[in-house]
Amino acid sequence: KLDSIEKLAKKLGASVSESCVNAVDSASFHIARGEVVGLVGESGCGKSTLGRMVAGLLPVSGGTIRFEGVDVTDAASADAKTARLRIQMIFQDPMSSLNPRMKVEEIVGEAAVYHGLTTRREMSAYVAGILRQVGLDPAYAQRFPHQFSGGQRQRIGIARALAVRPEFLICDESIAALDVSIQAQVINLFQDLRRELDLTYLFISHDLSVVEHIADRVVVMYLGRIVEIASTEALFDDPQHPYTQALIDQVPRLGAGRQTYRTIKGEIPSPLAPPPGCHFHPRCPMAGPRCTRDTPVLRNDAGRSVACHLHDGGTE
Ligand code: SF4
Ligand code: MG
Repeated sequence: KLDSIEKLAKKLGASVSESCVNAVDSASFHIARGEVVGLVGESGCGKSTLGRMVAGLLPVSGGTIRFEGVDVTDAASADAKTARLRIQMIFQDPMSSLNPRMKVEEIVGEAAVYHGLTTRREMSAYVAGILRQVGLDPAYAQRFPHQFSGGQRQRIGIARALAVRPEFLICDESIAALDVSIQAQVINLFQDLRRELDLTYLFISHDLSVVEHIADRVVVMYLGRIVEIASTEALFDDPQHPYTQALIDQVPRLGAGRQTYRTIKGEIPSPLAPPPGCHFHPRCPMAGPRCTRDTPVLRNDAGRSVACHLHDGGTE
């Protein structure tokens, strides 16, 4: 039994990462300094995998990820190691990533001491400064993770990431587990930190209304491939890819006047056996014969990037 689970996990990992690499390759997906890029799509489409690859937490085969010119996927290089430190990831569930036996001071300060950003002797003051930055009382440094609420724990997770002085934060569903009122507070914190620290974000979320609020630009993924990239305004006002149209149609409308598209049908297929041609064709209301044969390429036209035959010669 264990053996077959391992095999499945291996297969899954290989399949998902392979398709993600293709997406990154063909899209030459770029994030400018200071920008907030939202990465959206249903769960299982490879968003987290891509995020982890960018953070250097998952290997990339057959592609490169560059951070200010340095290939972060080069495990052997010292430059890549330094670059990876400047990229930090913030996860959905801080409880599972915070050591329950460690005090907040140690959790937040440990990596900063290890990387020489502060010393053991000065760690308390260093951590106090960072706790203030994320809106926590510095006295909390002497407490343990279980003594905090979910929102406070997420702030501790953010403090731990900030402690190594990152420039680029990858937030993977970082507010998904929080109550709605707390979500707004944490989003505000991300926006304040962006201004104060000149941070860049990759904001991974299945929640389009949050992404519309926080992102400058949005990347839409479906089954390991990027299907559309556009400015947030353009994407929500005038989505081009049928999958994006379906996704946006599911978002409760704040203002009237948005065009209505057909609702998305069916379940997301297994990434182990994605449909041939356009991965989206079994669910797409616009699909034609060509969609089952040819893989659409992400094409850039006037600042909009779309991977769909409708925008590239037709579906016949
Ligand atoms: Fe739909 Fe075809 Fe476009 Fe894919 S390529 S989104 S199946 S119309
Ligand atoms: Mg995920």
